[in-house]
Amino acid sequence: MVELTQRQKYDLKRQLEELKACKGKHTELISLYVPPSKQISDVTAYLKNELSQSQNIKSKTTRKNVLSAIESIMSRLRQFKAPPENGVVFFVGHKSIGSDQTTMVAFVIEPPLPISIFLYRCDSQFFTEPLENMMKEQDIYGLFLIDRRECTIGMLRGNRVNTLKYMTSQVPGKHGRGGQSQRRFERLTEIAAHEWFVRCGETASEIFQEEKNLKGILVGGSGPTKNYFVDEGYLHYEIQEKIIDIFDTGYTDEFGLRELVDNASGTLTNLRISQEKKIMKRFLREVTKAEESLAIYGEAQVRKALTMGAIDVLLLSEDIRKYRVMLRCTSCEYTMEKTVDEYSEETFEPPGCPHCKSQLPMEIVKKIDIIDELSDMAESTSATVQLISQGSEEGDSLYKAFSGIAGILRYPLDL
Ligand SMILES: [Zn+2]
Repeated sequence: MVELTQRQKYDLKRQLEELKACKGKHTELISLYVPPSKQISDVTAYLKNELSQSQNIKSKTTRKNVLSAIESIMSRLRQFKAPPENGVVFFVGHKSIGSDQTTMVAFVIEPPLPISIFLYRCDSQFFTEPLENMMKEQDIYGLFLIDRRECTIGMLRGNRVNTLKYMTSQVPGKHGRGGQSQRRFERLTEIAAHEWFVRCGETASEIFQEEKNLKGILVGGSGPTKNYFVDEGYLHYEIQEKIIDIFDTGYTDEFGLRELVDNASGTLTNLRISQEKKIMKRFLREVTKAEESLAIYGEAQVRKALTMGAIDVLLLSEDIRKYRVMLRCTSCEYTMEKTVDEYSEETFEPPGCPHCKSQLPMEIVKKIDIIDELSDMAESTSATVQLISQGSEEGDSLYKAFSGIAGILRYPLDL
C-alpha cells in the first residue's frame, strides 16, 4: 500500500470536516463511491434505476432534491470515460442552511488511495467512513505474542487489530514425568523450546516482511520468554530492528493482541509526536538565540522568507483555519491577496478597492487553504514542510505563541 504524505492526509482531513458539516433536512444527501474497476456505464445504469425508484418518495421537496442530486451526479459522470486511477467519490445533495433553507452542494473527490467498494447511499448526512478509514489505515504495526505454549501474530492498522496466525507448541512443561532422568528431560525440553522459537521467528519474520509499510513491531507475553526470544535474535535481523518495545500481557492468544495494543498506546502516541517534538525543539532553540538566529515566525515574515527561498523547514500548525483569497477589483482590475480567518462563503465580505477607491466589493477570484498555499511555496523552493499537531507542549506553543506559522531558515535573515 502506498503511504499518504502529510499533505495528502491534511487535505483529506479538511475535506472530511467540510463534508461532515453538511446536514440534510431529510434523507437527501447522496454519497456514491465508484472503485477504479467499475465501468462508468454500469454506474449510470445503477443511477437510472435509483432515479426511477426515487419517483416514489412521498415528500415533494425531498423527492425533488433527491432527483436533482442524482441527475447532477449523472451529468458529472458523463465527463469520465473510465474511473480515475483510485476511483472517484461523489457527494451531492441539498444541505440545510438554517431556517428551512437548503442549498445544493456537490463534491467530486479523487481519493489518494484506491476505493475498494461500489456504494450508493442516500441519507441525511454524507457517508464518509471509507475515506476516514483511508487516513486511519496508515499506521501499521506488527503484533507478536509469545510464551512457551502459544504464539500469536497480528497486525494493527489504525485502530483495527487483525489476527494473522495462532500457533501452539509441543514444548513439555517444566516438570518431567517420573522415570526419566531430570537432566535428560531438561535437555529435551530446551531442544523443543529452541525449535519452537525458530518456528515462531521464521513465521513472524515472513509475515512482517510482506508488509512494506510496517512502522514497527510490538512484542508481548506473560513471562520472561518474550525477552529471551528477542535477546537471542530469533527474528530476521531486519524485523528485529523494527521492535519498538516489549510489553507484559496476561494472554498470548487473540485476547492478548488487544491487550498488547492497549498497553502500548502511550508509546505509540509518543512515537507519532516525537518527530514533531524534535523539530519544534530545534526551532525553539533558534528562537532563544540572541545572534544569528535561524528562527522565523508570523505569517508576513515567513511569507517573505519563503519568496526569498530562505526557508529550510516550514512549520505549520495543523489547526490554523485560515484561507488566502485573491481579490480583483471589478472596475480597475487591481488585484490583491488577503488572509482570512475561518473563511466561509457565507460570512466573508470582500472590501472595496484600495486602488481606485471603488466602494464595490472586490471579486474573489481564488481561495486556497493557507496550509496548502504555504506548502506549495515551500515545495517550489525545496523546503521541508512539517505539519505540527496540537496536544504537545511544543505543538501548543507553535499555535499560540507563533500563530501557527514558523520556519527554520537556511541562513540568518535581517527582515
Ligand atoms: Zn479598483
